[in-house]
Amino acid sequence: AAAALGTSVAGAESIKYKDPKRPIQERVEDLVSRMTLEEKIGQMTQIERSNATSTVIQKYFVGSVLSGGGSTPSEKASAASWQQMITKMQKAALKTRLGIPIIYGIDAVHGNNNAYNATIFPHNIGLGATRDPSIVKLIGRATALEARATGIPYVFAPCVAVCRDPRWGRCYESFSEDTKLVQLMTANVVTGLQGDVSKRHPKGIPFVAGSKNVAGCAKHYVGDGGTKRGINENNTVLSFHDLMRIHVPPYDDAVIKGISSIMISYSSWNGIKMHENKFLITQLLKERMHFRGFVITDWQAVDKITTPPHQHYYHSIQETLHAGIDMVMVPYDYTEFVTDVTNQAKKGSIRMERINDAVSRILRVKFTMGLFEDPLPDHRLTEHLGSKAHRELARDAVRKSLVLLKNGKKNGTAVLPLSKNAKKIFVAGSHAHDLGLQCGGWTNTWQGQAGNNFTGKGTTILESIKSAVSDKTVIEYTEHPDKDSITKSKDNYDYAVVVVGEKPYAETAGDNQNLTIPSPGPDVIRDVCELVKCVVILVSGRPLVIEPYLDTMDAFVAAWLPGTEGHGVADVLFGDYGFSGKLPRTWFRSVDQLPMNYGDKLYDPLFPFGYGLTTKPVSNS
Ligand code: BGC
Repeated sequence: AAAALGTSVAGAESIKYKDPKRPIQERVEDLVSRMTLEEKIGQMTQIERSNATSTVIQKYFVGSVLSGGGSTPSEKASAASWQQMITKMQKAALKTRLGIPIIYGIDAVHGNNNAYNATIFPHNIGLGATRDPSIVKLIGRATALEARATGIPYVFAPCVAVCRDPRWGRCYESFSEDTKLVQLMTANVVTGLQGDVSKRHPKGIPFVAGSKNVAGCAKHYVGDGGTKRGINENNTVLSFHDLMRIHVPPYDDAVIKGISSIMISYSSWNGIKMHENKFLITQLLKERMHFRGFVITDWQAVDKITTPPHQHYYHSIQETLHAGIDMVMVPYDYTEFVTDVTNQAKKGSIRMERINDAVSRILRVKFTMGLFEDPLPDHRLTEHLGSKAHRELARDAVRKSLVLLKNGKKNGTAVLPLSKNAKKIFVAGSHAHDLGLQCGGWTNTWQGQAGNNFTGKGTTILESIKSAVSDKTVIEYTEHPDKDSITKSKDNYDYAVVVVGEKPYAETAGDNQNLTIPSPGPDVIRDVCELVKCVVILVSGRPLVIEPYLDTMDAFVAAWLPGTEGHGVADVLFGDYGFSGKLPRTWFRSVDQLPMNYGDKLYDPLFPFGYGLTTKPVSNS
């Protein structure tokens, strides 16, 4: 049909929207002018992969498809299977009357975490600890390449939340509690993902450099990290002044760097759901901050707008579109969406100008990123998935993300770096030898994969220790040792490394009002550290209650959620590299103090924001 339009009307070159030499705005306007109402509403529709058959794509003119949360086992198989899946969908879209390509999106929040054998980078909290914007830019670039390696041109990242309360289950997706640090990391990761905008690039115009980059999505606008008691999707109670001071600035950086899309937060601001907040979406983001890319809802978020008189989807959708939403994530209930919007557009209760604006924004991104010219996966990029270079980059990020919080008992000598020539090292704890725990949520699946379920390559912390020490060193590992056996053999060990932490979680499932180290972690720390000189490594998405155990430890390291490249841990433990990470957030003493952030009047942390001991690299082989 696309070809028919080309020949029967006047020849392809005279069809403006198909001409890559024409200015993008001209192409957008030309295409919108040719579209029917159904085609327009289709562009605004994003459905779940499992619904995206060729028939559905063609019948509804679907504009976008996503893999929500994580992948399914069938997708995990290989880069090739992802490419095949996307190619099939894209070919269906290209056969529609106007041949508008779909844009396929995934949550690539620490590497291409949906794909089997991808490089998994530290979660954002660890990247915040590196204080290194240049490595964050490189990680953005690598993530884009690994997404493209599987045929994916669009990622729901970065999360630019300013997490103000570690009880929030998404705290690890946030670079920091500090707005300035989040801003710095945001600007760099967006640049890495989408490519570098020139100094003269007009603010707000989406920018994607080419087919090795992806369209990004800054999320979740706005105030997601400021909800009461850190409860996910809850209410953020703040003055406009404080909202502007704490949570809005990272979006400004993303917009300056040409971010392609922005996802709205499930949360509310002063009792009003963000998805219906016209003031913050249209007036602030689009008009005042000049954002010209597209605004997307969160997963089924329209269903959650139940404030009277919007108890019915019909009204909720009207409200959100008027508030300024451009693309609607309707994974399953897309027929209702299409029907309701069609009826309202015909009646005039949803204005045509609003629909045209939404469609223009989506098409602007598709044209900008070259999707019309290169709609299909590029097989030459396959080799980048889990490449050696990316694993080396992730390993370096791990080294820089580790925060050393204690090194030696009071008046004692430093314990770290450890000697590679020890005779015998005891390793204990649930997190020493488990890649799924090391990666956390949003890995393989939405809630992450502990235990043997993790599929993919990588190095556990135990394996990294084994490969760092001398040939003669004996490593003994027991996940959960009993005290008697340690008592018997304690004199044989030069020292112990205890690795404990949180189980993987994502979103609301991770909300936690206690923030204690899950059992048996505390017992393992006590039992081992009372008897053997010990280094404790905490693998977690946030600070946990640690003060009661701190005295028994000889050294304490926060490793966050380091991802697949555990070698980075041994690199620093054994002194090939120095410790350099700094706390990206305040380490509280007790949850009663929360929320407690740097700059608060009452500030009595266990370790303040920015704290982190350093060590120098040593030559010890
Ligand atoms: C999350 C988003 C995510 C979306 C799609 C939602 O539940 O809040 O961060 O991008 O799902 O997977």
